[in-house]
Amino acid sequence: MLKCRDVPAEAEALLDGELSLGRRVALRFHLFMCGNCRRYLGQLRLLLGAVPQMHGQASDEEVDQVLKRLHDHSH
Ligand SMILES: [Zn+2]
Repeated sequence: MLKCRDVPAEAEALLDGELSLGRRVALRFHLFMCGNCRRYLGQLRLLLGAVPQMHGQASDEEVDQVLKRLHDHSH
């Protein structure tokens, strides 16, 4: 499980478009659970501007689908 201290490095890789699907899911799942990191990433995105399109990688919809499945299993 991703820890808060791991989020900055993962977020940088995400913004660089270098994050694999599995790591993106882990990051999104952490952000889903953790308001602090959500706020952190929101500020990072504001600082850096819009996140560039990540061609050839999993779409946000695909990540959301995986997250939704994870969420369903946790109940
Ligand atoms: Zn966190």
